[in-house]
Amino acid sequence: MLSSPAALSSDPLEVLQRVFGYASFRGPQEAIVRHVIAGGSGLVLMPTGGGKSLCYQVPALCRPGLAVVISPLIALMQDQVEALQQLGIAAAALHSGLEAEENQRVWRQLNEGQLDLLYVSPERLLSGDLLERLGGAPLALFAIDEAHCVSQWGHDFRPEYRQLDQLAQRFPHVPRLALTATADPRTQADIRERLQLQQGEVFLASFDRPNIRYLLRHKQSGNAQLLQFLAEHRGVSGIVYARSRSRVDRVAAELKAAGYDAIGYHAGMDAEARRQALQRFRLGSGVVVVATIAFGMGIDKPDVRFVAHVDLPKSLEAYYQETGRAGRDGLPAVAWMAHGAGDIPQLRRFIDDSGASEEQKRIEHGKLEALIAYSEASGCRRQVLLRHFGEGLAKPCNNCDGCLEPQQRSDCRVAAQKALSAVYRTGQRFGAAHVVDVLLGGNTERIRTLGHDQLSVYGIGKELDRGQWRALLRQLVSLGALVSPADAKGGLCFGPPELVQPLLKGERDLELVLPPPAKEQRRRSAGSAGSAVGASAAVDADDPLLAALKTWRREQARDQGVPPYVVFHDRTLVELAAVRPGSLSELGSVSGIGTAKLERYGTALLEVLAAAGDR
Ligand code: ADP
Ligand code: ZN
Repeated sequence: MLSSPAALSSDPLEVLQRVFGYASFRGPQEAIVRHVIAGGSGLVLMPTGGGKSLCYQVPALCRPGLAVVISPLIALMQDQVEALQQLGIAAAALHSGLEAEENQRVWRQLNEGQLDLLYVSPERLLSGDLLERLGGAPLALFAIDEAHCVSQWGHDFRPEYRQLDQLAQRFPHVPRLALTATADPRTQADIRERLQLQQGEVFLASFDRPNIRYLLRHKQSGNAQLLQFLAEHRGVSGIVYARSRSRVDRVAAELKAAGYDAIGYHAGMDAEARRQALQRFRLGSGVVVVATIAFGMGIDKPDVRFVAHVDLPKSLEAYYQETGRAGRDGLPAVAWMAHGAGDIPQLRRFIDDSGASEEQKRIEHGKLEALIAYSEASGCRRQVLLRHFGEGLAKPCNNCDGCLEPQQRSDCRVAAQKALSAVYRTGQRFGAAHVVDVLLGGNTERIRTLGHDQLSVYGIGKELDRGQWRALLRQLVSLGALVSPADAKGGLCFGPPELVQPLLKGERDLELVLPPPAKEQRRRSAGSAGSAVGASAAVDADDPLLAALKTWRREQARDQGVPPYVVFHDRTLVELAAVRPGSLSELGSVSGIGTAKLERYGTALLEVLAAAGDR
């Protein structure tokens, strides 16, 4: 029989301040914490970086008994356990990756009632007699992290999660808190049903991530735009998402050649190579990972300063999740994406060829449409993004390309007529490149052979350049007036007549955002809009105290074999450099410094601060 630890304190605010070193709760945290302490169950929806962990870590300390945290990924568990141990909290993890000796040690701690928190993977929890043994002692709570894994609607379904429905039956009196950053209402409903949380509360935090700047670019060929963007963010950690393994390998090689500390990551690499890549990314600062979506959950590194997409993601949910890995520490970060005409028909074909049920295909097509609408939106990106998640944003955000680089809409009624005519006259079977050649009066072999220079539409579109015509065709596709059927190999043909006819006859007003003419575009920088991240990296260079603190932190982390952010977050170092505390009690009031860290690092920090002051 397990024995169980006593509660540390019944006052959550005191625990927050004393143990975690934070002055106050954030958003719905306090309501959630009090609800769980009082024995309640529920579902927490909070964006990445919103502070989900504290929602169960504080009640774990305020309620008597062991808190069991179910988490799908070993790397993530280990990070959390290390971070808790730094705070002086008795935490451990049980998973398949443990050495026998380590495993025994955890069991000893459990048997002696020394642990406040135990992290387990769902398969470990459900295998053997662990549940029975846990049931022998009072339990503080169950926290089910990444709870969307229980749902087939989520993008990360894990069958083991399904069996967590046992918890409700076996432990009806232990609070269950499910947590996720996945916003989709259908997934939410599914989680509540699967985990039997219908009676529990739902806590919904805003999905806005105000510190993330959304920048979208029309894709040009090659990786020049990406290189230009990265040049403005040298020396910081970031992720570049690409669609395929071969793309990942190519982009990673190109970045290495350009002098970046870049590593590739995809499911085709062997497990050891992937582990090393992940480890280098976690421990380093300034490492750029080029990855497929295989590089995903479990990346809770707080100081990722940018996420760049060189291909369109699968859906707006996936985009939100992937970009959400930037700026978890709340400091400025950038979500950059280059999107191009070629992506859309290809993604449509992926769905058509996926072998999924018709119903599922319809859902996937709908999700893709939402993504296209986002990437083609002309105003504030954030408003479109949040609207998709059922949340309004009253004013434009002033932190996206739509707000910072407002684009002129132009009257495209006549241009659309010309484009549709060109598609029609060439026989509704050519791709965008050829249609544009015809509109521009190009002198290609294909045009001559096909006799397309004899058509009435030949050369009627010289008022726009190639990039602008491509953008217009893309938008006609996104409006549904043009389609690219799966068997047409990229060829464009008319969509339903009710969408095509009014445009073809010029009866429908059409205002679209076209990219600036090519000449002008080359002058504009790829990242532009004043680089938020560049600015934060520059601060480092200008502030020797911050640089000294970071060096000290790096040494500490290296000695202990933990990532730097487990020692202190950037945010804490920035505050230290700004406030320059001169005594232990002043140090203790800095955010992120609780009793344990004060005791452990206080004197050393004062020395670093004093030494820097002497210079
Ligand atoms: P999530 O799991 O929701 O992505 P985390 O729990 O990792 O987010 O929290 C994100 C960051 O915010 C962490 O660095 C955490 O320490 C910090 N944080 C959370 N709550 C607070 C708070 N009330 N005050 C200050 N910092 C907080
Ligand atoms: Zn905006």
